[in-house]
Amino acid sequence: MLTQSLKSLTNLFLQQPCPLCDRPSPQALCPSCWAQVSRCSSQVSSHQPAPKALPVLAWGSYQGALKRAIAALKYEQHPELAIPLGQALGQHWQQAPLTRRSPLVVPIPMFIEKQRERGYNQADLIAQAFCAHTGLALVRQGLRRQRATAPQFSLGVEARQQNLAGAFSLGQAFQQRPQQPVLLLDDIYTTGTTVQIAAHELRRCGISVCGVVIVARAVME
Ligand SMILES: [Zn+2]
Repeated sequence: MLTQSLKSLTNLFLQQPCPLCDRPSPQALCPSCWAQVSRCSSQVSSHQPAPKALPVLAWGSYQGALKRAIAALKYEQHPELAIPLGQALGQHWQQAPLTRRSPLVVPIPMFIEKQRERGYNQADLIAQAFCAHTGLALVRQGLRRQRATAPQFSLGVEARQQNLAGAFSLGQAFQQRPQQPVLLLDDIYTTGTTVQIAAHELRRCGISVCGVVIVARAVME
């Protein structure tokens, strides 16, 4: 049940060498690089949701080969890397789902101009692979990004919240309120401000949010 854009990605990476090591590879990442990326997944300590915080399920920690793979996905025009990462996240969900109800998966959107520049939204591609693996429903227009925001990593916690205030609005897919809860999906989780503000906007509109799935969670010093 692959969507069209995921299919074209699958065809794309068959002709390319591994983006991390440049060796010929039958998959988006060669087996050796994938082994290194996977090692970043077992280093995550169990998530401890703070009171009032969203439950977070992260597949890996944002370091080493996984950090490189995400950088290649976002900044070096390797959208095909969303496929193995989304599938791995899907497997992780099946082992430890945040809810037994079938949530609607909503990727965190990018500002439209930024997405045009990049040509794709990596969270959307990861969500496609995640949903193809888990069978959960993907809602691509669940949220809209209202405006461009400064890169979050450059800001302190308070500035992050100001940076994102009003950043999201309800997307056209939720003109009618859904029965199922929403599961947000993003590539990286640092302080969680982005997903919290996205969740706040959905809840403000009466939509329940059961948590967030993330490919890589930043390692806190
Ligand atoms: Zn490789």
